[in-house]
Amino acid sequence: MQILTEMLEQQRVAVLRLSNPPVNSLSAALRQELLASLEAAFANPAIKAVVVTGEGKLFCGGAEIREFNTPKSTQFPILRDVIAAIEKAPKPVIAAIHGTALGGGLELALGCHYRVSTSGTLLGLPEVKLGILPGAGGTQRLPRLIGVDAALDMIASGEPVDEKQALDLGLVDALFDSDFVNRAARFALDQADHPLTTRVLGARRAQAPQNAQIYEQARKQARRRFRGCAAPLACIECVQAAVDCDIDCGLAIERERFLELVNGTQSKAQRHLFFAERAALKLPGDWKQPGEIRLVGVVGAGTMGGGIAMSLASAGLSVCLVEREAGALERGWSAIQKNYAATVASGKLAQAQMDERLGRIKRSLDMQALADADLVIEAAFEDMDVKRQLFRQLDAVCRPSAILASNTSRLDIDEIAASTKRPARVLGMHFFSPANVMRLLEVVRGKATDGGVIAHVFSLARRMGKLPVLVGICDGFVGNRMLGQYTREAHFLLEEGASPQQVDGALERFGMAMGPLRMTDLAGLDISWAYRKRMAPTRPRHLRYSRVADTLCEMGRFGQKTGQGFYRYEAGKRDPIADPFVGEVIERCAREDGIVRRTISDEEIVQRTIYALINEGAKILEEGIAARASDIDLIYVNGYGFPLFLGGPMFYADQIGLPAVLETVLRFQKEHGEFWKPAPLLEKMVAENRSFDSFCQS
Ligand code: NAD
Repeated sequence: MQILTEMLEQQRVAVLRLSNPPVNSLSAALRQELLASLEAAFANPAIKAVVVTGEGKLFCGGAEIREFNTPKSTQFPILRDVIAAIEKAPKPVIAAIHGTALGGGLELALGCHYRVSTSGTLLGLPEVKLGILPGAGGTQRLPRLIGVDAALDMIASGEPVDEKQALDLGLVDALFDSDFVNRAARFALDQADHPLTTRVLGARRAQAPQNAQIYEQARKQARRRFRGCAAPLACIECVQAAVDCDIDCGLAIERERFLELVNGTQSKAQRHLFFAERAALKLPGDWKQPGEIRLVGVVGAGTMGGGIAMSLASAGLSVCLVEREAGALERGWSAIQKNYAATVASGKLAQAQMDERLGRIKRSLDMQALADADLVIEAAFEDMDVKRQLFRQLDAVCRPSAILASNTSRLDIDEIAASTKRPARVLGMHFFSPANVMRLLEVVRGKATDGGVIAHVFSLARRMGKLPVLVGICDGFVGNRMLGQYTREAHFLLEEGASPQQVDGALERFGMAMGPLRMTDLAGLDISWAYRKRMAPTRPRHLRYSRVADTLCEMGRFGQKTGQGFYRYEAGKRDPIADPFVGEVIERCAREDGIVRRTISDEEIVQRTIYALINEGAKILEEGIAARASDIDLIYVNGYGFPLFLGGPMFYADQIGLPAVLETVLRFQKEHGEFWKPAPLLEKMVAENRSFDSFCQS
């Protein structure tokens, strides 16, 4: 890692290139060398101006995240010291930004006197996504440069802008499409005779926003977007300080908040998830697949098929949606149109884009229409016979090179693959509902699935803006298998004395996006009922079984869709209303099963449900259904509403300490029996004084 120096414009402009592959992150060593190179350039009378740029494909990806919470992060010079030197410089310093300027990279650029950019560049302050805030003056300088409204948008959402938006906002001063560095050097030289004081952003306060409500609106939005997270609120407080205080006071507030966040548990959890994503996306290098996916077939235009088709069309792929009967196809098609129209009405999509996307979705009642598809995703009924028959048909119709995927929630992919002559090209693509919104995709590998096929599906998923996580075969894969344990405990707690409101309330206060009973009402009680009926013949009779949900289903209470489930719903509304009748059903079930009702604490509700997730997660890990604990965390945060700020169930367990988790699990085993048998991996990790995070399936 180093600073590469080059002299341009007859030796009058020093071009300093940050070079620290892969993203030119601002490590302690790079900061030190940058400051030294800047000081040398400032001291050299022949040099009239300085350009700071990045070596390779980008300007700078920001701080070295792995140095956080280590002595290196505070080692002189921190980024603030480098920026202070630039602001005091006797000659103009220009940031020439290409590729990306993120986080500390953009803060460095904001410390420069001018910023120029080129096409294909993204500029942003994504710190909030890591549970921190821009701590090198970003919250102070950005509002001074582009105004409070736009700065709040960028800092509290963490979303970047492109170079054209940056030019409109005044974030960059000029765009040069060709001969970028030379033109930046010429631009730098042109500024050499202009006074620099007006270019130092700290010299004035940010202008007060026109709308005084803007901070409160931003807080409201942040609470929705980053439920329970402290970082966005701290970002907003700092931006407000840019208006209310001078730069020194604003920087002091920013530093204080930054240190609180970076040393706090939330940001550790969010950084864990950041690295978890990187690890999940990394597949073995030899998993390669030639060719491209252009046409995707989707079988079944129901809840999932429609959402999957939308996701594909929105990513620019051609889709062929196949149904077995005209009415279902028509219903599916009109749901797709309605969904897109709602996005247009909200202003997030232009009518022309909607038309273009709809134009990409062809519809058919004939399976032959899939003859040219590169990939087919089946989203028909959850029934093994239906799936087997469909895959036999697809195998006969589709090209031998086509990949065949099932969106099954829990059925055995190997059994489905066995009905084809191409098991190596069969896998599971388990999308989550609504499929056009939810980011998570469990990619289910069968025993014969080829690595190249998985790589292909991963790259398609990325193109669709999804987060693919590789999982193995078992009933329910990772997410739904764990969910089974979680909801089982929720139902037991009802019988033992808690109300649906208490169970949901305790878990929502813990941080879950939605309590388990509200979630069941939303998904439909009939779906899990069908599964329980299917599994009934093999259910061990000696184990406790809650009949509450079955009883509600027998009464036609399927949740929101029927206006009644664990709660009651008024027509057209989604707010759950406590229903005393459900209380009577629960009490009756408990009485008939000889369960003595008692007072249940919120703490017990959280431990019984969340530790059930953790214990099952440990079994899944040990069986190799998930390769890493962090994969399970990604699945729970992105697919099941587990709080981002706790980093996922396995990370949460590591933070509590596995000995304490095991002790509680053993107590529950004594009190509630066999369901609570500790996972052998949990016991092993405790015996070896290790964390789940340190476990890697060999
Ligand atoms: P759905 O009942 O809403 O839709 C299924 C559609 O498939 C229907 O329109 C039906 O007409 C069609 N279909 C059935 N057999 C067909 C055939 N032979 N050829 C063509 N079309 C056929 O079901 P859904 O909720 O969309 O679920 C579909 C699949 O996705 C299931 O395997 C389910 O387990 C899985 N899944 C569902 C969810 C969810 O939340 N609903 C989430 C993840 C996965």
